[in-house]
This record gives sequence, C-alpha cells and structure tokens, in this order.
Amino acid sequence: MSSSSSSTSVKEAENRYGVPNRCWCGKGLDTWVSETKENPTRFYRCKIALQNKSETHLFKWVDEALLDEIRIVDAKRVDLLHELQALTGKVNVELESHRLWLVGRAEEMRNEINENMVQLTKAIDESTSLMKAQIDAKVKTHTNSKWSINQTAAAMAMIGAITYLYWKLL
Ligand SMILES: [Zn+2]
Repeated sequence: MSSSSSSTSVKEAENRYGVPNRCWCGKGLDTWVSETKENPTRFYRCKIALQNKSETHLFKWVDEALLDEIRIVDAKRVDLLHELQALTGKVNVELESHRLWLVGRAEEMRNEINENMVQLTKAIDESTSLMKAQIDAKVKTHTNSKWSINQTAAAMAMIGAITYLYWKLL
C-alpha cells in the first residue's frame, strides 16, 4: 500500500506541472467546466475518474495549467538568455584572442619589413659606393690615358718637327 501510494504520488508530481496530456493511470483527459454559475472555471479530469470515484485520478484547473506553461516558457527564456550570455562571452574571448594574434602577426611583419628595408638600404649604399669607386677609377684611368696619348702625340710631333728641321738643314 505504501509503495503504491508513493508511486502514485511520484506520477502525480510528474503530472502536476504544466498542461497535462493524460492521467497518471494512463487514460486520456476530458476538459470540464465547474458547476459554479457565477464563476465557471474549466478543469482537466481523467476520463475514468467519474466511473471510479474511489480512486484518485488527475484533476487540474486549466488556468493553473496555463499559468504553469507561462512559467515554463519564462524559465526557458531565462535559460536561453543565460546561454546566450555565456556564448557571447566565449565569442568575445575568441575574438580577443584572434585580435591579439593578428596584432602580434602585424608587429612581426612590420619588424620583418623594417629589417629588410635596413638590409636593402645597406646593400644600395654599398653598391652605390662601389659603382662610384669604379666610375672614379675609370674616369681616372681614362683621364690618365688621354693625358698620356696627348703627351705621346706631342712628343711625336716634336720628334717629327726636329727630324724635318734636321733633314732641311742637311
Ligand atoms: Zn486516471
């Protein structure tokens, strides 16, 4: 008896909240209207409750059941809100982590570019100095050889003139 009553009370508890679909005995429910004419109220009652009046079957006011449903929806809404807040928090953490990674990568790239620019500037300076030195050397060589050709030409002309004079005088 005690086990059956405890089992009944568990089933009763399962059916107690929200709009019930069926009685804990397994039968379907009917919707009735209370006999009070001033304030008629609807209620759910097990289909066999009328036949077996000695047994306890489901009885629930429709207003109460609807109020339960509203509370269930409200609780779900609060749960969803908390889930959304948790998700937003996670997304923000992820985004911040990505942002920091990008900032770090940009800094690395900037340093790499700066390093390359320094190397390039150094290489250009070295090449410029080398080219300048080579040009200077060529100009110097060219000037020297020109000078030397002029000198040789002058010397040849002098020899020619002397030879001519010598030949004329003889
Ligand atoms: Zn029942």
